[in-house]
Amino acid sequence: MSKIMIIGAGGVAGVAAHKVCQNSEVFTELCIASRTQSKCDKLKADIERRGTKTRITTAQVNADNADELAALIRIEKPVLVLNLALPYQDLTIMDACLAAGVHYVDTANYEPEDTAKFEYKWQWDYRERFEKAGLTALLGSGFDPGVTSVFAAYAMKHHFDEIHYIDILDANAGDHGYPFATNFNPEINIREVSAKGSYWENGAWVETEPMEIKRVYNFPEIGEKDMYLLHHEELESLALNIKGIKRIRFFMTFGQSYLTHLKCLENVGMTSIVPIEYEGKMIVPLQFLKAVLPDPASLGPRTKGKTNIGCIFSGIKDGKPKTYYLYNVCDHEECYREVGSQAISYTTGVPAMIGAMMLATGTWTGAGVFNIEEFDPDPFMDALTKFGLPWRESFAPDLVE
Ligand code: NDP
Repeated sequence: MSKIMIIGAGGVAGVAAHKVCQNSEVFTELCIASRTQSKCDKLKADIERRGTKTRITTAQVNADNADELAALIRIEKPVLVLNLALPYQDLTIMDACLAAGVHYVDTANYEPEDTAKFEYKWQWDYRERFEKAGLTALLGSGFDPGVTSVFAAYAMKHHFDEIHYIDILDANAGDHGYPFATNFNPEINIREVSAKGSYWENGAWVETEPMEIKRVYNFPEIGEKDMYLLHHEELESLALNIKGIKRIRFFMTFGQSYLTHLKCLENVGMTSIVPIEYEGKMIVPLQFLKAVLPDPASLGPRTKGKTNIGCIFSGIKDGKPKTYYLYNVCDHEECYREVGSQAISYTTGVPAMIGAMMLATGTWTGAGVFNIEEFDPDPFMDALTKFGLPWRESFAPDLVE
């Protein structure tokens, strides 16, 4: 019997809202609050058309303004806020939760708008404030980060005495028919993939040039794909929370057309976040590019194919070497049929709802700021299967060189 507030009404928020409303026993009420209220109203109408027992309200809010948001939280009285706006709003939404006395959940770590650099430092600095307030902040409850980190906690709990190596593999074999489009917010996506890569090895970060390290992997149900090493936020927390880890890497698949377009856009300056003057007005080239690219939410009806995201673990069990692969395969067209969205938003929105459910039901408790792998993975793993992201395992996976 809980009320939840979702901030944002984009691709991921849309899926999470549908999933909240499929879970009416836990979430009796939902408030969808975002910058553009008409998008919240459209989402509410879509959910109600499909049928739900959850009572839905909508509101307009600027989540960059902590006072404005705290005032709305006090009026709506949710038990927690699920932040599915953009990483730029993380800190103001955490401030508003502290001011109004509610729990906080997100899927992406804070990134200052004027610096393409994301790290947990800013949000970990809130630990003491959440502890003192007796509130929980759950960070990174999407797929990666999110499910990948829960997979690591599950592997550690059930399959290993020591994990030495983790390779996180994110493959999208979806085809939307456009020469170039991104599957989630284009600005955030392009900032991520055009940055330098890095991985954690023997207690230190090793930095690479963007897309410098390429591997080919034969993914279950998807086949052979080119994948490239990226920096990714869960590497930072897993390096601390998986004791004895020697190396963690993150790879994402990209097709040649995507990379060629990206290189061209970079070469002409369109991916820059440094403002320029255009006809007397200051504009950020990457934000202008976002405005001309297809809206990720519009890819749903066009995308065919599957995603495969998971982790390969290597380590020691009972004195013997062991390898273990945990992954989920998700079909774009099935997601669209169920909630009107493609698989990237789906694989993020489902775990966002599950993380919120873990706090709302008191399954996970604790005062402070936590990364998701710090909690018991078992109830989350059960909920993944129940809410549409069943996982599979292999005890003899191909390893990444
Ligand atoms: P979208 O751009 O589709 O949606 C973002 C929403 O936030 C929009 O509705 C937008 O409003 C709203 N918003 C933006 N700024 C504000 C503000 N100041 N106040 C109120 N609302 C605001 O993004 P996605 O749905 O693709 O992504 C959502 C989040 O999920 C991002 O943080 C992204 O990084 C994360 N993500 C995490 C993944 C994971 O696996 N962990 C994978 C994919 C995404 P408006 O409609 O007016 O623009």
